[in-house]
Amino acid sequence: MKPAAFAYYEPTTKAEALELLGELRWGAKVLAGGQSLVPMMNMRLAKPEAIIDINRVKELAYIKEAEAGLMIGALTRQRAIERSRVVKKRSPLLAEAILFVGHPPIRSRGSVGGSLAHADPAAELPAVLLALDGWVHATGPSGTRRIPAAELFVGPLLTSLQPDELLTEAWFPFLPPGTGTAFLEVTRRHGDFALVGVAACLTIDQQGICTRAAVALLGAGETQVRSAQAEACLVGYQMDGQAIEAAAAAAMASLEPVGDIHGSPEYRKQVAGVLTRRALGIAWGRARRRSQL
Ligand SMILES: Cc1cc2nc3c(=O)[nH]c(=O)nc-3n(C[C@H](O)[C@H](O)[C@H](O)COP(=O)(O)OP(=O)(O)OC[C@H]3O[C@@H](n4cnc5c(N)ncnc54)[C@H](O)[C@@H]3O)c2cc1C
Repeated sequence: MKPAAFAYYEPTTKAEALELLGELRWGAKVLAGGQSLVPMMNMRLAKPEAIIDINRVKELAYIKEAEAGLMIGALTRQRAIERSRVVKKRSPLLAEAILFVGHPPIRSRGSVGGSLAHADPAAELPAVLLALDGWVHATGPSGTRRIPAAELFVGPLLTSLQPDELLTEAWFPFLPPGTGTAFLEVTRRHGDFALVGVAACLTIDQQGICTRAAVALLGAGETQVRSAQAEACLVGYQMDGQAIEAAAAAAMASLEPVGDIHGSPEYRKQVAGVLTRRALGIAWGRARRRSQL
C-alpha cells in the first residue's frame, strides 16, 4: 500500500523544524525513524498533509551524562542506546530493555523520541522512563517545558505533546546506590511487541529495607502504568520473598488489561503477576549484590 500524498520538509536545524511545526501544526507529522509512522501512513491509518523529516537535525542525536541522569536527544537511534557503554554502566534498566525493542534493523532506524512520542502501550521505552521517574523536554512556540513520564502517556498512541511541540530530549535519572533493576517481557515471537512486560526497580538500605520501588507494566492497560499498589507492598518493608509475592499479587489485582486476539485480559493479568514476581526477584538479587548484603 502507498501513503496518501503529502508535502515533504527536511529541516537541518532544530529551530527550522520548530518553525515548520509552528506553521503547519495539525496538518504535519514529525518523521524520525519512520518505523511506526511509515507503516501507519502506508496503511492510511495516518494521513498527514505534511511530513517534517528531522533526520538531518544532527543536534537532536546525543547521549550525555549529567549529574542526575542520562540526557538523550530525541533523534538518538535505539541501536546507539544498545551500543552505548555509558548507558550500560549508568542505566542498566534502559540497557536491558532496549534489546526487547523489535529487531536490530528496526533499532538502527527507530529513535528514542519516536518511541516515546508514538506511545504504543506495549512499547518498552515508555515503561523504562516511567519506572525511573524520568521526563522529556518538549519545545514549542511558547518555549520548552518539562513533561514527567507520568503525565506524558495519556492513552493508546496518545501523549500530552501539543501538535506544534517537538520532543527534543528524554531524561533517564540515575537511581541511588543499593538499587537493582530488571526488565522482563513475554512475546509470541522474538522481537514482537510485548504481550505484557515489566520494568522493576528496587532500592534497599544497609538493613535490607526497601526505600524505593517501581513496578511499571506495559501491554497491561491503555498506557504503560506504574502499580502504586505493588509498590506500597514494598516500600518501608524488609525485603523478602513474602514482600515480593504480595507485590506481585497487588500488581495483578490493580490492572485492567485490554484483551485482543493475542491474549485475553485474564491471561495478561496472570502473566503480569508472574513477570512482576520474577522481575522483582531479579532486581532484589542485583540490589543485594550492589549493597553487598
Ligand atoms: C516490525 C516492527 C517491530 C517493532 N517492535 C517494537 C517493539 O517490540 N517495541 C517497541 O517499542 N517498538 C517496536 N517497533 C517500533 C519502533 O520501536 C519505532 O522505532 C518507534 O515506535 C517509533 O520510533 P521512530 O523513530 O521510528 O518514529 P516514527 O515512526 O518516525 O514516528 C512515530 C511517531 O512519533 C512522532 N515523533 C517522532 N519523533 C518525534 C519528536 N521528536 N517529537 C514529536 N513527535 C515525534 C511521529 O510524528 C509519529 O507520530 C517496531 C516496529 C516495527 C516496524
